[in-house]
Amino acid sequence: MASASSKASLLLHACCGPCATVALERLLPRFAVTLLWYNPNLEPAAEHARRLAAVREVAAHFNVELLTPQPDPEAWLSAVADLAQEPEGGRRCEVCFLFRLRRTAQRAAGGGYQYFATTLTTGPQKRLEQIRQAGHIAAAEYGVQFLDESFRSRAGFQRSVELSKELSLYRQNYCGCRYSMR
Ligand code: SF4
Repeated sequence: MASASSKASLLLHACCGPCATVALERLLPRFAVTLLWYNPNLEPAAEHARRLAAVREVAAHFNVELLTPQPDPEAWLSAVADLAQEPEGGRRCEVCFLFRLRRTAQRAAGGGYQYFATTLTTGPQKRLEQIRQAGHIAAAEYGVQFLDESFRSRAGFQRSVELSKELSLYRQNYCGCRYSMR
């Protein structure tokens, strides 16, 4: 549940530890943040575990609560089944972002959070307009405000690399799903 802090409560979807660093650094002065780990797109299972471990390290460093609901990879795979041949940045990624942000917005609504946001906006490889669109759709569906903030702005990605090095975090070299490995 959202905390009783005087700051507005925000549920922050974390796509990975490195991207979460700069997002937390920027959000914590303004919001009472809880992290949410929900990335059923990730394969193989060892990679999912490795990225979750990095997010746990970040949560401990910034002293924030981390929620880890059960992932449902079969549901994610079925949502993108017809989009296997799409290039990275194409329609499959739109569906992937919406899948994850819908669950985040649902969880935010159920937990009484005022806002939700996502660290997906940190990395420069992902298309910002797709993430923003998914966030706004999910917000409208669940009646929670989407904090439409780009953490890559003002050299945010470079800052995430710096912080990841300071914390010796694992940094992945592919987006995450089976299709992004090729
Ligand atoms: S490439 Fe990345 S954003 Fe696109 S579907 Fe795969 S995991 Fe999702």
